[in-house]
Parts: sequence; structure tokens; C-alpha cells
Amino acid sequence: MRVPPAAAGAILAGCLCLARALPAAELDAATLDALDAKELPSVIAWRRDIHAHPELGNRETRTAQLVADELRKLGLEVHTGIAHTGVVALLRGARPGPTVAVRADMDALPVTEKTDVPFASHVTTTYHGESVGVMHACGHDAHTAMLLGLAAALSAARASLPGNVLFIFQPAEEGPPDGEEGGAQLMLKEGVFEKYPPQAVFGMHVWAALSAGQVGYRSGPTMAGVDMFKVIVHGKQAHGARPWQAVDPIVTSAQMVSALQTVVSRNVDISTNPAIVTIGAIKGGIRNNIIPADVTLLGTVRTFTAEQRALVLEHMKLIVEHTAAANGATAELIFSDAPYPVTYNDPALTQRVVPSLAAVVGEANVRQVPPVTASEDFAFFAKKVPGFFFFVGITPAAQDPATAPANHSDYFYIDESGIAVGLRAMTRVVVDYLTSGGSQ
Ligand SMILES: [Zn+2]
Ligand SMILES: [Zn+2]
Repeated sequence: MRVPPAAAGAILAGCLCLARALPAAELDAATLDALDAKELPSVIAWRRDIHAHPELGNRETRTAQLVADELRKLGLEVHTGIAHTGVVALLRGARPGPTVAVRADMDALPVTEKTDVPFASHVTTTYHGESVGVMHACGHDAHTAMLLGLAAALSAARASLPGNVLFIFQPAEEGPPDGEEGGAQLMLKEGVFEKYPPQAVFGMHVWAALSAGQVGYRSGPTMAGVDMFKVIVHGKQAHGARPWQAVDPIVTSAQMVSALQTVVSRNVDISTNPAIVTIGAIKGGIRNNIIPADVTLLGTVRTFTAEQRALVLEHMKLIVEHTAAANGATAELIFSDAPYPVTYNDPALTQRVVPSLAAVVGEANVRQVPPVTASEDFAFFAKKVPGFFFFVGITPAAQDPATAPANHSDYFYIDESGIAVGLRAMTRVVVDYLTSGGSQ
């Protein structure tokens, strides 16, 4: 559809790929499983190593070094320092075909690990002025290790591979530090997709809400788009004993917070897609007997379609303006100019690749998951080319995934049998896509 594979190939003409490559052969299920099985011990070792040495967004220097070293060992041309610490490598299959991108994220979270795994993190750092632990509480250690495993397995199959695979190791999925750019958006800005234009992009996320052995997906809107907002309510300061001389921004913002609850509950058709308006912070006032001049509210809006987003933002504007006016106050509603888009699984691509997932885990273990109200930086890649993002179960079979510690928990735990499944699933998705000729 979009790619001239020859153009991508020309950039890397002379790629020295692989002393240990297999001769050209059919990439059937048994061959692919054998390639993945061979890489699995390394994948687990990488994952544990990265888990023990977590790094926050835009600071993934050790992880990026490990990734780049392993990719170079495979004979791939490796580009580092993209969007600060990002690493990108292209594998050119020996047979002609499309280019696909596969993305993993590398960053950890400011969470103090409480699991008792032998490779638990003891790393600490300063975050927002406080001393905190650093933990791979979202499982990006597993994503990075699985993508390295995929690069190794597909490199070994290069002679038979009909097309090219762009491996993207992304920094700062959880957001860059204050005042910095980062993540998928910055990688795209620095031209990752222009240098190696892919026809499709794939990603996966280890997911506590699914058991190891299961994978999950949705077609269409999958993870929420997020708008961050700030409301500044301007009133008039006065002594707490003489409220009639004030325009009270605290009372005004209290009414606003209550009224904002009706934006979704009385305007949005939530029978098709959920929407959420959350106020997460209220800041105003300093003393018990002074009515302050201003109050600031901070919050997030989560939506799944452009129409729904427009509706929610418009009703918020009405409530903020008119509640302020009814109290004689004024208010500013300011949305971040960097919203996260909806993570959208292209329906045609989804339909095409789901059989690959089923071939690995069996029909019964492919679950359609409900809309996920968290957001995902992968959305930026999937806005550029058709994307498919799926979830890989990692909760031990003996545990109920509904109550297992969720992603971002300090007890987040990965049953590593899920990593083996994720590697096999992504291998099959990529190879099946290339074998069937991309979008041609
Ligand atoms: Zn996360
Ligand atoms: Zn994550």
C-alpha cells in the first residue's frame, strides 16, 4: 500500500546479515516455533537483566546499550540515540516483500518494587523531588526482551523471509520527564517511519487481566485517547468572616466538579464506547479563614472516538463557563496541546492477523477484551500506518486475573510462560503478514 520496499532496502544495501542464518525454507509453524524456542532462554535472561536494572523514560541508556549490542550481534544495521535513547534496526529478508514495523517500549516507572522475585529491582531515583524506587511495573522489560527475541529468530530465518522488519525500541512510553519531549511522537518527528516506511505496525502489551496462555485484542478503538486539562477559576479574595465581599472560587469549583460528573452520564452514549472525565487535583487556598482568589483543577478526559471527544470537550466548556458565570466568577479551561490519540486497531488488519494468534494459542484462548481506558503511546505509530496492538496474558494460572496485581502495581508479576507465548504470537503475526504479501 504505502511502501516501496526497494527504497527501504536501498538504504541498507550491503547489510551483513547473519552468519548463522538458516538456508531458505518454508517458514511453517514448526520451523518458527523451533526458532523461538531456541531464543527463549536468552529472552528470559534479557528480561530478568532489564527488570533488575530499570530506567525511567528518556533515561534508558543501559537498556538501549544492551538492545543495540544484541542487534549488532545479529548483523543488523542499528541506529541509536533516536528520540534520546531509542534504538531502531531493520532486518531485510532475502526475499522481496513488504516492510512491517514492530515496536517495544523500554521505560520503567517510579514505583518501589514489592515482589520477591530474585531479580527484583532495588534501584532508586529522585522523581518530582522525592526519593522513589524504579520498577518495570508495566512489563516493558518483557516487551524489550521479546522484541530482541523476535529480531534474533527472524534474523535466523532471513533467507526465507519475504520482506523487511523494522524493530523499534521506544523510550518514554509512560511519558517523558517534565519539560522534555519523548516517546513515539518524537521518534516519528525524527523520521523513523520516513527512513523505513512500513505498511503496518504491530505491538503487544503484557497484561495482568489475562492469564498466561491467553492473548486479547479488540478491533477498532482499543485503548482510550486522553486529553489532559486544567481549569483555573478566578474569583475575588476576602476574609473568611466576610464572604459577601468575596467571589468564592472554592464554592464555584466545588459546583464545577459536581456538574462535570454529568458530562458523561447525561450526554454520552456509553452503550457503545465508554468515556471518562476525572478531576485528579484541586489546588487553592492557604488558610482556614481566607477565601482565595483562584482555584486550579487538574484532570483527564478519556474517549474512544473523535465524535465522542468533541462532544465531551464541548459540554465541559459549557459547564465550566456557565458555572463560573452563575457564581460571578470567571474560568479558563485549558487542554494540553499534546493529547494522546486513541489506540486504534485497523479492522481489516485485525481480521487478517487474528487467525495467526489463534494458530498459536488456540481459538479459545484468544479473548476479545473490553475497551481499555488507559492510553498507549503506540497510538501515534498506528495513526501513521495501519496498526494492531494486542495483549499477552501473564497472570499465573492459579490466580484470578480479575484480582491479580494490575500493570503499574508494586506487586506486578509476570508468569514467564506468557513471554514465550507473546514471542510465538508476534513471530507468527509478522511472518504470516509478510508471507501473505502485506497489503498488496
Ligand atoms: Zn504503563
Ligand atoms: Zn505499558
